[in-house]
Amino acid sequence: MNPARLSLELLCHGLRLDAGSGADARATVLRRTRAGLGSGLEIAIPGARKTHRLNVPVDEQFAQASPWLLRTGADGYRVCDTRDGTEHAIDLVADPEWYDERTPAGTLLSDVGVLQGTYLGIYVGDVCAFWSGSGSSACGFCTTGRNVGHDEALQKSVDDVVHTARVAKERSGVTFVHLNTGYAGPDTVSVMHRYVRALKEEVGVLVGVQATPAADLAAYDTLRDLGVDHVSFCYEFHDPEVLEHWCPGKARAIGQDAYLDAIEHCAGVFGRGAVSGEIIAGVEPIETTLRAIDWIASVGAFPTVCVFRPTRGARMESLPSPDPDEMEVVFREVWNACRRHRVPVGLAPGIEVSLVLTPDDCADLIEKPPLGDRLWRAALAVGRIAAAPAFRRRMRPRNSSTRNSSTRNSSAQSSSTRRTD
Ligand code: SF4
Repeated sequence: MNPARLSLELLCHGLRLDAGSGADARATVLRRTRAGLGSGLEIAIPGARKTHRLNVPVDEQFAQASPWLLRTGADGYRVCDTRDGTEHAIDLVADPEWYDERTPAGTLLSDVGVLQGTYLGIYVGDVCAFWSGSGSSACGFCTTGRNVGHDEALQKSVDDVVHTARVAKERSGVTFVHLNTGYAGPDTVSVMHRYVRALKEEVGVLVGVQATPAADLAAYDTLRDLGVDHVSFCYEFHDPEVLEHWCPGKARAIGQDAYLDAIEHCAGVFGRGAVSGEIIAGVEPIETTLRAIDWIASVGAFPTVCVFRPTRGARMESLPSPDPDEMEVVFREVWNACRRHRVPVGLAPGIEVSLVLTPDDCADLIEKPPLGDRLWRAALAVGRIAAAPAFRRRMRPRNSSTRNSSTRNSSAQSSSTRRTD
């Protein structure tokens, strides 16, 4: 079984931990941060072309009935398929030791950001407005309203974010920091500005931004000028009725068209392959998901597809997890659609993602690539080499003296008092 297919098996079924596996002691502490999707066990699956990183569900109800069992032996860890006895070697990814350190302000670094694969993910801004009141507008799969302020810091100051990103870069080789936030109105994305500016000036990393679409698309010119390298839009479901049902806040306060317009617009502003449209697979019919993937790639963005995870505590907790055979069809299409529409993928250095299979991961699902596919892989390999100097430039700190700690502290404070949920 190739590592991409094994990833889908584990995402769909989850993994049971053998009592003697020692996984609890050696592996990552299970962390429920951001939308709650990183709440599993971080593992690495060796493959012929690359090592895949994966955050495997172990805590959720469906994982308790998984046919997959984690075992340990003299030669390391293995995941075993109890249906037929086959075994696959994997590694557990331990937490970096800096998780337990504190910023100069006293914040635990892992309360600021966590590794999700080889990149650093940080939720900034206030608790999503869709969680206000009874939380009935919140997305059905999301647990952000329960995580922020509990499993992670309620407010992240710019200083804390810069410190954590610098440590992650120096000691874990992080090249990419991904900032996300919840809904805070039509100008949500401006929450990111001071963080992006500081990361670019003082740390020197690639920065991705994920926020609800701005009402004024000129906001993305500002983001580009600040140095943002990647923007992503979680529009979740392609069928507007499914979106309305499971993500009422997004459907009513923002509307699906705003997401689609922003994806298309940003593919022009940031360039092909620098924008992603994010959807969830395994809830709406597979044909709808395939249409979404083709549409996203057709406008020059790349599809980021999440295998639906019925996360503990989410409104969708009791839904079944998807079928891995169906997910294989979906993820083959992720790779094929990017190839068909010539969306470059996998060019940025040092980014492996554990929450989803990236288009580059999906290449491993095509075990006997036809000629056109092999030519596309060769073109991407050349593109990686050609793009390397530009990425190196973008990862140099810009070193500006314009920011001082008093402006940092006052801006963090004004954010924390902007809205209470
Ligand atoms: S917009 Fe939806 S997914 Fe994002 S934080 Fe709010 S409720 Fe969660």
